[in-house]
Order: sequence, then structure tokens, then C-alpha cells
Amino acid sequence: MRPRIGLAAAENPALLPGKHIINTPYIDAIFAAGGTPVLVPVGGGPERARDYTGILDGLLLPGGEDVTPNLYGEEPRPQVTYMNEDRDRMEMELLALALERRLPVFGICRGMQLVAAALGGALYQDLPTQRPGSVAHSQDRSIRAQLTHRVTLAPGSVLEELLGKEPLRVNSYHHQAVKTPPPGFQITAWAADGVAEGMENQDGSVYAVQWHPEELVERCGRFRPLFRRLVELAGAR
Ligand code: MN
Repeated sequence: MRPRIGLAAAENPALLPGKHIINTPYIDAIFAAGGTPVLVPVGGGPERARDYTGILDGLLLPGGEDVTPNLYGEEPRPQVTYMNEDRDRMEMELLALALERRLPVFGICRGMQLVAAALGGALYQDLPTQRPGSVAHSQDRSIRAQLTHRVTLAPGSVLEELLGKEPLRVNSYHHQAVKTPPPGFQITAWAADGVAEGMENQDGSVYAVQWHPEELVERCGRFRPLFRRLVELAGAR
């Protein structure tokens, strides 16, 4: 039996009203790593997350819109213009259930920010205005698989174990980032300007990256262990 990995599919009224959508590379990356993606339709209230208790062996929190700042105690800054509070609440509930059941969790981009916001960390709402740096983090979305900026990994971290010690470059399209990791988490990857690019909890059962490995795995084998770990931990339960 292949491990079943929950993957939130959200409505995006600005893009495609009346549809739940998920980028295909997430689905392909989970299949390629040996898991079976289970699409979880978000919206309609966080209690729907409960229906997935017992179905899932692991959880992947994918990219998407900005997390609603009010949910982590801040007013939205002018640069935060697109949010989906239904999705935030549903994914936070999925995360809480996953932690309660000790399921492994892998967060990507917004997924990393969501883990931080949900568990008591803090975010930069908008890097260019709140933390002007030397690195371009918002590359053009038409070149999703292009490696751009460099990332340094913490020696001895799970992310280093997965990605290796060779110099690493990643793709990057985010204007937010984790400012402070939640209790029990450490930042274990950084861009050259110091912006957090990855974090993990103590036993590495919850880990996250700020870039988009799902867009890279097909061409670049180096990023595949990020997905394999989620599937392996899910299968080992
Ligand atoms: Mn970046």
C-alpha cells in the first residue's frame, strides 16, 4: 500500500472561479516519490478537515496566496492584497490534525509560511518593503523551473542530509518569508541576504522550504529526496 499524502486543492476566484485547483507538478512529485496524492478540497469550514482523519499518512502543504495576517496577529500591510482565509483555516486544521496524529508534514513556499503562522512564528508580510535585501526572490513565474539564487544549508540539518553539501541554487517566487520560526523549529536554510529558505522541527518530521522543488524534481534529481522523505516517513507509520 503506497502512503497517502494529503494535498490541499483550493479555490482561487481570481484565477478560476468555481473550481478547485492544484498545480500538477505537486501530484507528479508525490507519485514519483512512491506516494499516492489525496486531493483535499479546502473551503466550507475547517471542520471538513476532520473528515480526512484516518485517510492520510502524510501531509504536503503547497504554495499559494498570502496567509491572512490577522490569523497571526497583524494587520495586512498594503502589499498584501490577495488572501484566502477559508483556505488558511482549513490548512491550519489539517496541520493540527497531522501533528496530533504524528503524521509527517512537508511545507512548500506558502506551506512553510503557514506552518510558521499556525504554530506561533512570525512572517515578513512583504520582503521588498520590510526587509530590503540583495537577492531577487520574485522571479518571473513563466520560468518556474529556473534555478536562480543560492541557498546555504545548516550543517547537520535534515535539509542538508536530503540535499547534500554541494553548493545549492533554487528557484524563487515569494514576496513573504518566515521572520521567526515557531517554538521547536529551527531555520536551516538561508539565501545570501539572510532570508529564511527552509526550516525543520527537532526530529525532522515537519520540514519546509521556501522555494518550489516540485517544479525541479523532473529535471534535477537532487531535489527528489525532499519528497521521498515525506513518503518514507508516511509509510513507516
Ligand atoms: Mn527565495
